[in-house]
Amino acid sequence: MSIKALMYHSVGIPPKEALLKSLYTNPRLFENQVKILKVLGFKSVTSDEIVDFVKGKDMKKKVCITFDDAYDDVFDNAIPVLKKHGFKAIIFVPVNLVGEYNKWDFERLNVKKPVASWKRIKEALKEGFEIGSHALTHTPLTHLDDKSLKQEVELSKKILEDKLGVEIKSFCYPYGDYNERVMDFVREAGYKLAFSVDSGHIKKGDNLYNLKRIHMRHNTNIFRLLLKLSVLYR
Ligand SMILES: [Zn+2]
Repeated sequence: MSIKALMYHSVGIPPKEALLKSLYTNPRLFENQVKILKVLGFKSVTSDEIVDFVKGKDMKKKVCITFDDAYDDVFDNAIPVLKKHGFKAIIFVPVNLVGEYNKWDFERLNVKKPVASWKRIKEALKEGFEIGSHALTHTPLTHLDDKSLKQEVELSKKILEDKLGVEIKSFCYPYGDYNERVMDFVREAGYKLAFSVDSGHIKKGDNLYNLKRIHMRHNTNIFRLLLKLSVLYR
């Protein structure tokens, strides 16, 4: 028994010049993936249920759909599809980049991708989506001194909570970069859980501060999706 957390970045068609196109999921493919999950009887969960499951509560056929970076294209192309099919998701926001663009990697990707506005983020929250922190500036956290690390982790939570008026329970490490020290800071800041980019399913008894995910890519067709959901997947 496991919860399958799916990791997405962009849902859209990459512009011609974009590098690392594997970070984009085609909107048609995305809708097919959601339909398959529905047909297979999967229901979506967010942080509270994951904590319950990891601590021992039995659950079957659960997915947790996650979006790193809170790109506008997710709000354009993924959220309406999820609403239509009755799924929820967690959207991880790089807090200092709200309403701006992927300043942290636009050169590497050769494309500026808009990050959603506070207005859009608030709307998604109202519609039942969970908002999590993806730190302040999307910098690798293991490189930081204690003071900067504390800021990235704690201040991002506080700003989100002040802006949105809800408790922020989940964190997602930029670039999946974490170690014991970073995990300690995240736990001490009051987050209930954190996602890495390590690949695999979430099992009972897992460490809640380095939860694994399934990488959803531009080529995750139905067969690959079924494989990733199966017990064989690591
Ligand atoms: Zn990211």
